Amino acid sequence: MIEKCCTVKTHQDRKIDIPGLVNARDLGNVSITMGRKFSRGVLIRGESPQFLTTDGLNKMIEYGVSDLLDLRTETEVRSEGYGLLESSVNSTVKIHHLPIIMDKNWSKDPIGSGKTHKKSVSFHNWLLEGGVASVVRLVDVINNAEGVCYIHCAAGKDRTGVVTSILYALADVQRCCIEQDYLITNEYVIEVLNKLGKSKTYIRDLKKPDLHAQLNNPGEITEFLDLVRGTSSIEEWLKSKGLSEESILKYREKVIK
Ligand SMILES: [Zn+2]
Repeated sequence: MIEKCCTVKTHQDRKIDIPGLVNARDLGNVSITMGRKFSRGVLIRGESPQFLTTDGLNKMIEYGVSDLLDLRTETEVRSEGYGLLESSVNSTVKIHHLPIIMDKNWSKDPIGSGKTHKKSVSFHNWLLEGGVASVVRLVDVINNAEGVCYIHCAAGKDRTGVVTSILYALADVQRCCIEQDYLITNEYVIEVLNKLGKSKTYIRDLKKPDLHAQLNNPGEITEFLDLVRGTSSIEEWLKSKGLSEESILKYREKVIK
């Protein structure tokens, strides 16, 4: 059952028109407890920037993107790269490599098909197997970024969905909005997977994708967050993994308005 969401109705007010990308959206404008909102123009999420056109690259720079939070494995980064964005790396845009799935596990379930586990359990396992270190690091990357951070994996669906849900939970975003943001990807998933399926890295898994299995399901992202937090909170969990109180305060200051 999809909970009725208090703010996020469709992608329309969140989508950013960046030529070459279809699944890009600003994390801002969703509701936080006590009537506050998540700020716009701080974090955006989407698929791999390797698909950016020249116009798209200009648009991204215009939008103020200064830092790329790349959640892909070393293997994917090596074989797929950054496309046209490569020319701006280090001059305009900084890249932070923050893998959520470890290279050694990449071959097991590279696209999070969830065939072996429920997706919420697969997501949790990625963190247990090493991804958590990247989650802790990326909060400080966001805190120190001079401009907008672009968070991406390959399709901008699972790993990006996992990270977004944690960042939202850390800012006390309403559960219904976390859920809705995760489900918005379903509107773009087929187009994105068709693009990825043509690349050398993903052709093995996406040549004939089971598109139904690729859809994000209601309830699984909040179920994942519940697995992570257990009887505690996302904040306490992140602290137990090494994130400082100071970093959490700085992050909240930056993303909550
Ligand atoms: Zn809501």
